[in-house]
Amino acid sequence: MKTVKIGIDLGTTNSLIGKFEGERVQIFKNPVGFRDTLPSVVAFRPDRTLIGDKAKEFLTKDPVNVFSSFKRKMGTEEKFYVTNIDQNMTPIELSSMILKELCKFVKDEDVSAAVITIPASFDSMQSAATIKAAHLAGIKHPFLLQEPIAASLAFFNETKVDDLDGKHWLVYDFGGGTFDVALVKADDSSLKIVDHQGNNFLGGIDLDNLMLKELIIPQLEKITGLSIMENVFDNNNRQYEKMYFMLAYLAEEAKKELSQMEETSIDTELELNGQFYDISIPITRSQLDTIFRDKIDETIHLTKLVMENNRLSALDISALILVGGSTYLPQVKSQLTEQLGITINHKIDPTTAVAVGAAYYAANKTYIASDEPKAPKDEIDDDDIKALLDDESTLSAQPSIEIEYSYNKTSRDAEEVLIMRVEGTYEGHSYRITRKDGGYDSGISNLKSKVTEFLPLMTSFNNIFECQIYDTSGKEVPELTKQFDILHGKFAIEGQPLPHDICLEVDDLENSTTKMNAIFERNALLPLKRTLYKEASKTITKGSKESILINILEGDQYSRPTSNTTIGFLEIEGSNLTSDIIKGSDIEIEFHIDESRVLTVNIYIVMTQQEFKSVFNLSEKKINISRLKEQFTTLESDLFKSLRDFKMREDDIMVMKIEYFLKELRNIKSELLSLKESDRSDRKYIFAEKLSQISKESDKMGGNETIALLIEEYLKLKDNVWVNIQGADFEKDSLVTQFKKIETTEESFMKSKNVSIINAKIDALENLDWNARMNSIGTLMYYFVMLKGHSAEASNKKEMEYVIKVAEQAKEKENYAEFRKNVHYMLNLAFGSSSPQKQMPNFKGTGIG
Ligand code: ADP
Ligand code: MG
Repeated sequence: MKTVKIGIDLGTTNSLIGKFEGERVQIFKNPVGFRDTLPSVVAFRPDRTLIGDKAKEFLTKDPVNVFSSFKRKMGTEEKFYVTNIDQNMTPIELSSMILKELCKFVKDEDVSAAVITIPASFDSMQSAATIKAAHLAGIKHPFLLQEPIAASLAFFNETKVDDLDGKHWLVYDFGGGTFDVALVKADDSSLKIVDHQGNNFLGGIDLDNLMLKELIIPQLEKITGLSIMENVFDNNNRQYEKMYFMLAYLAEEAKKELSQMEETSIDTELELNGQFYDISIPITRSQLDTIFRDKIDETIHLTKLVMENNRLSALDISALILVGGSTYLPQVKSQLTEQLGITINHKIDPTTAVAVGAAYYAANKTYIASDEPKAPKDEIDDDDIKALLDDESTLSAQPSIEIEYSYNKTSRDAEEVLIMRVEGTYEGHSYRITRKDGGYDSGISNLKSKVTEFLPLMTSFNNIFECQIYDTSGKEVPELTKQFDILHGKFAIEGQPLPHDICLEVDDLENSTTKMNAIFERNALLPLKRTLYKEASKTITKGSKESILINILEGDQYSRPTSNTTIGFLEIEGSNLTSDIIKGSDIEIEFHIDESRVLTVNIYIVMTQQEFKSVFNLSEKKINISRLKEQFTTLESDLFKSLRDFKMREDDIMVMKIEYFLKELRNIKSELLSLKESDRSDRKYIFAEKLSQISKESDKMGGNETIALLIEEYLKLKDNVWVNIQGADFEKDSLVTQFKKIETTEESFMKSKNVSIINAKIDALENLDWNARMNSIGTLMYYFVMLKGHSAEASNKKEMEYVIKVAEQAKEKENYAEFRKNVHYMLNLAFGSSSPQKQMPNFKGTGIG
């Protein structure tokens, strides 16, 4: 076991690397320029590659060969074409170059393991991409840690606050490309992220773009008389691309200056259409305050959302910790204080906090290096047994000693007690305990039935110990060597929370649709393991084209499968089977997610005794612009509909919420709808993120009143259905079973607070109601009389008249089963269906129920 030690903040704009050294974290400085931060920028020259500050210089000289903000594209299929080397680069490759450069800051040590931070809102695809980048950079053992957790760790370890237990804190991280807010709680000696919200496309870069759009370009257009706006934001326009980067650079510099001063100006010389212009545009802090207001409001909206979702008010939050370069803006601080009423804590450095926290975490993280002997296996395989049988000496050397170790895994004391209970033929044997860093050695003592040792601990560190056992001749017995670690420190982390629910898509045959079946819930701590026992929902014959679809989704368990992201997909076809799978037979599916969110799935089909294993290659996110536009229009019209409903009910709070969403949609409308299929800018990702966020929030919204009304409707209907089932003359047992089935899911769907899910249950009850009535002689009589009265209007009059006659005869003979059959037939003739059920004969589904 080795300790990781190194922590890396792989930022959108700036990256840092640090290492825990004894009591504190050291941030390594860039040997070039001697700064803490390395700009996450890569420039390709024809003969070499530049990274960081040097690369940034080429942004204005040769922008087409310089790449920045690629972290925003992690997990997407996007590629960057580099003219200078005539080659495509992926976001993963570019990120790996940043990581490699950072590793160079650490002299005398090769970085084969490191903790790398990611935004809390990163999904599995983005996480997997980060792991890939680390591997490419030669970091064999990367561990991911969410940035807000890292920042909290820095805060709690660097500040000397003692009475934190049970208190809540907010970490507000406003960086260059992303915004994250996390609610943190300290319990006893461990830190826990209770909840978080975020937007991967909201950061300082967006503020710079606003300055271009609202202040700088309108001025330039005035000065030059040219239309610049639309060309500047079109990535395909080379001439303007260079200008864009230059203006963006100048805007950012002005923005930073205005964090210190009240006014400044942008001064430069521009060449446009062969003409030179001397430009000087004055900008004031109050102008920025105005144009930034909406973006900052958005961060505050997300912050309030986290508080609301956890039923916390400003009084419940003990501190607001600011992280990220954009929090240097005076406007951020004043808007936060005004609108949240929480005191801001200034104790940590917003620039280095994440890297510092990552290094603290790394100090307590261990790994098994590939050149070390493997940990003992839990199960012995055939080869092992064969080897044991072949080698008799191994057999005779099998120790007949068993030792049980008891100790606390975490400690705040200077030393911890270790108790060893020894059984077997231990006489004449001895032991020795050492601490891995060499700071402690127990010396060799005789083994007894009970051994007690006091182990000294290094503070704020993961102390690794090793206990060796020697036989009667003083030779080490390697099979009995035991390694264990005791974490010393004020605060530890229980694990990383999952940012979204992970679900399996399963069939909902009653409603001819599919639904989400939660595997792991949001905020559950990684690593996670679970086995689901499901059934085949249809028969699949060996060799047929039919298949079982294992579709694993990341998102919200209370939403429809289509509004979530697929993170793993596997198809088991009839041709893969060794025998048929009969409907209703068992399928066992085991899911495992490790700390770096790599998903492994084992599927066991009991009938065929076949096992399918898969480590999911997480697919890349693809965004189709026309689909995006379609989603926009649907969402907008849905919201308008709800707005009308809530206005009618005079629910002012809901009206305000929807108006806020509609305003957000309006802000992007014209830009999104005019987006060309060829657009290569970030915009489609920004819009997609925005849409999914609004759609998720409005999904949940329903409003307590709407939900209450729906539940009331459901309960009333349920009472009616029960009465009708009691009055049924046929198939009563089956009707009761269906009724109970709906009833058992009541608790979970009512809790979902999701309008569409509750509506689906109401539909199911309505179907059941119809079935119950169609099985009662009274109702059948009613329809018989009604349809008979209208038989002259039937399109298939002859057939109808014949069926009526048969039904009539059955009724006279009191053969009600026959009567029922024929009334159903009449209904079919009249309406094309004997029930109002929405039948979808071609429903394929997943094959899993
Ligand atoms: P990331 O975590 O995304 O890499 P950082 O936390 O390093 O980003 O923040 C970078 C952002 O902070 C940039 O957009 C930069 O313009 C902004 N920034 C840095 N210093 C200041 C400042 N003094 N005033 C306003 N914005 C600043
Ligand atoms: Mg950051």
